[in-house]
Amino acid sequence: QQVNIHTSTKTYPVFIGNGAIQQLRDIIHEAEDNYTSFMVITDGTVAKHHLDAFHEHTALEPMFEKIVPSGEKAKTFDVYEDCLTSALENKLDRKSLIISFGGGAVGDLAGFVASTYMRGIRFIQVPTTILAHDSAVGGKVAINHPLGKNMIGAFHQPEAVVYDLDFLQTLPEHEVRSGFAEVIKHSLISDEKFYYWLKEEILSLDKMNDSQMLKFLTKGIQIKGSVISEDERETGIRAYLNFGHTLGHAIEAEAGYGKVTHGEAVAIGILFALQLSTQLLGLDFNIEVFKNWLKSLGYETTIPAGLSNEQLLERMKQDKKAVNGSIRFVLLEKVGVPALIEVEEKVLLMNMKKFVEEGE
Ligand code: NAD
Ligand code: ZN
Repeated sequence: QQVNIHTSTKTYPVFIGNGAIQQLRDIIHEAEDNYTSFMVITDGTVAKHHLDAFHEHTALEPMFEKIVPSGEKAKTFDVYEDCLTSALENKLDRKSLIISFGGGAVGDLAGFVASTYMRGIRFIQVPTTILAHDSAVGGKVAINHPLGKNMIGAFHQPEAVVYDLDFLQTLPEHEVRSGFAEVIKHSLISDEKFYYWLKEEILSLDKMNDSQMLKFLTKGIQIKGSVISEDERETGIRAYLNFGHTLGHAIEAEAGYGKVTHGEAVAIGILFALQLSTQLLGLDFNIEVFKNWLKSLGYETTIPAGLSNEQLLERMKQDKKAVNGSIRFVLLEKVGVPALIEVEEKVLLMNMKKFVEEGE
């Protein structure tokens, strides 16, 4: 499968499928402007499972590798500097290519390295998580600051995305769950039919077959691609991609990163946003049925015990996307029809209380 992503600066392909990695070599050889050298940035876990296969299928030279810590630990200033040091030591130049091989954390890091090394060199994303169907497309790259996640970053679109589903086989179930929440998000904000297809088709996260995965990842990427092609720099509708993220980010931050995965927090945020949507916009949607589906897939469906609503509210006010301290939520008028709505604090608190009570 191939999806093309259109942005103001360039159009690039996303190749999706089992064995897609075999196309990387051709993509590189067909590049208009030849590459001089290559550096793959990956994390320890992905390296252990798949780096040999990566080298075998790509056989690129000269190829340097940089292995960074797994997860959010990859997105620090120290690791960033380390990558730049490797790039300099290995004499990468303006025509070198950085290949990010891993999940969203590695992709964000490697993309940020590529965006700043010598004022920007080319890079290709080779995602290895379900979540990365979202993060590898769209050109947002970043590392974290001790005071805030993704606060230091850039917009830097990849030359291509090569998404080989074979790499996903080693993904632990909670990471599958994390990524799948973004697939659900993509369906809810833009395509009712796709949402109902998912709900009928995906009844367990460890028994998904390749053709189901191929379908929902392709669809998810198409949706993300069409949103960002209309709004590359997030001045308007790109904000809809934030559905479920206002509360989701707050839960992630309050619980402590790594305690709940991104997508698992987002799933709770989606449920809450749906509740708000029925209250404030008269959304006609069977939340109970949705909630039971999420539960059967192993998701938590309420705010984790021990987190205070007031603290979560404070977090939501600090969100990058909040303007002047007011909290803007992506809600749904209908499935597939999102809207950006400012919600008053007291309405939020009341609804959070109700949400927790009903979740118990
Ligand atoms: P990740 O890269 O941390 O991967 C999750 C875990 O899975 C890691 O421990 C990793 O080592 C492991 N892993 C990865 N591939 C594996 C495989 N094939 N087999 C076994 N284990 C594997 O994170 P993620 O969940 O993919 O993405 C989350 C990150 O993405 C966050 O940092 C978030 O900020 C970022 N993100 C960015 C965007 C964007 O638009 N740039 C969008 C959403 C999320
Ligand atoms: Zn997300």
